[in-house]
Amino acid sequence: MEPARGDLELVEVSKHFGHSIAVDNFSQHFEPGQYVCLLGPSGCGKSTTLRMIAGHETVSTGDIKLEGRSICKLQPAQRGTAMMFQSYALFPHLSVLDNVAFSLKMRGVDVPTRERKARELLELVHMNDFTNRLPDQLSGGQQQRVALARALITEPSVLLLDEPLSALDPFLRIRMRAELSRLQRELGLTFIHVTHSQDEAMALSDKIVLMNDAVIEQSGTPNEVFNTPGTEFVARFMGGHNIVKADGRAFALRTDRTRLVSVGEGVHGLVENVEFLGRSVDVSLDCNGTELVASMSDEDFYRHVINEGDSVTVQWSREDLHELSQA
Ligand code: ADP
Ligand code: MG
Repeated sequence: MEPARGDLELVEVSKHFGHSIAVDNFSQHFEPGQYVCLLGPSGCGKSTTLRMIAGHETVSTGDIKLEGRSICKLQPAQRGTAMMFQSYALFPHLSVLDNVAFSLKMRGVDVPTRERKARELLELVHMNDFTNRLPDQLSGGQQQRVALARALITEPSVLLLDEPLSALDPFLRIRMRAELSRLQRELGLTFIHVTHSQDEAMALSDKIVLMNDAVIEQSGTPNEVFNTPGTEFVARFMGGHNIVKADGRAFALRTDRTRLVSVGEGVHGLVENVEFLGRSVDVSLDCNGTELVASMSDEDFYRHVINEGDSVTVQWSREDLHELSQA
């Protein structure tokens, strides 16, 4: 059977820079048409992984297969992948139209064909009214749309995006996030999006691949990674969890399942900080040296206002404890 378009597999891929290991034995199947976020803290190897897929970096060992064929030895333009960079990297002296048409020009495509194609893509990203502008006459969000059109013009089967939203202000970031999601669904391409923001990864992904220190720590749907973290690192990185240790075992407990009660059994806690987050309130507690956070709705909070220095009782249900591996 022919592998489907955009079916990508990394097989035991490693990257060494001298004696340091940037990516260590990375194996992952990226299913066709999925939106995958490569998530993790700065320096964990996300960009290096993406660059190896794109062909901007060689692999030290391992193999990368796109639609069943090894692409490791191919030039970036021959791979069937396209990359959109964090800085957009638009050519400042070329118009929007020429920026988008650029790689078709490099491939020797005639002027009418490449301009028609460039206009189609500018329409797709809602930038068809800006064809004659220069990049510095555009806002950050508009530049990003142009960079997207430029990456898509070679009809890649996999689009690689390295921190594509990080240069935008928070309001625009959320709008462009929805826009990326719409584009991915419309085009049906495999998107691999690098980010260090767990919110962004949760909002966008069909699948999250969470990296830590050159290796994959956990991969799965946003729901799986958030609700069934495998390790303490995953629970802490995804946020919204307390780490509870008992009998030499460690458990993740969602902060919104950590309750403050006025009567009944529980753990004693001292309120250290109260953070108002709009729809919810996070109360940080010192429980005999263990730091716990209880998240509650603003309604619950205002029913019994809690202040710094208050003594409280903390409760949770046994079924809300999720055991973590000892790694
Ligand atoms: P991330 O994108 O997750 O922040 P990177 O993939 O950029 O991380 O980097 C992973 C590790 O590899 C880092 O320790 C970084 O310093 C190192 N690294 C990346 N590129 C190079 C390079 N060209 N030469 C040497 N070390 C590098
Ligand atoms: Mg990076």
